[in-house]
Amino acid sequence: MEKSFSEIKELLIRKGLKATHQRIVIYHLLFNSFEHPTAELLFDKLKINNPSISLGTVYKTLDTFVQTGLAEKVLSETGSDRYDANLSSHHHIYYTDTKEIVDFYDSELQDLIIAFLNKKSIPNLKIKDFKIQIHGEKIDMVENQIN
Ligand SMILES: [Zn+2]
Repeated sequence: MEKSFSEIKELLIRKGLKATHQRIVIYHLLFNSFEHPTAELLFDKLKINNPSISLGTVYKTLDTFVQTGLAEKVLSETGSDRYDANLSSHHHIYYTDTKEIVDFYDSELQDLIIAFLNKKSIPNLKIKDFKIQIHGEKIDMVENQIN
C-alpha cells in the first residue's frame, strides 16, 4: 500500500528523525518502488523534481534509514547495495541475468524452515526471523513449456 508524504513525515518523527523534505521524498520513492533500487537509481529519479539533491545525500539518507530500521539493505551480486523499505517478513528472488529482485512470500516455507531450525536445536539461539534469497535465471514461459 502506498504511503503519502504526511504518513512518511509521521513515520520519520516516530523514529526520532527530523522530517526534512529530502528525507520525505527519498523515503516516499523507496517505499513506493518494488524494484529494490540502488542509491543511484533513486537519485536519477529524484533529481528530476529535486534538482538540489545530491547522490551523497541519497547515500547518507539511506544509511540513516537502515540504522533506524526504516529500510533494509538487500544483497546483490554486483556489489552495489540495493534497498528495501518493505519490512514485512518476506524473501527475495534474484534474477542473475536481469538483476531483478522480486519479493517472494510463502507462509508454508516460513513454517517449514522455522520447524526445521528448531529441530536442530542450535545452542544459544532463539530464531526471530530469517531471509532466503533465491538466485536464478528468468525462463521464457513458452520455451519452458516446450522443453
Ligand atoms: Zn523485498
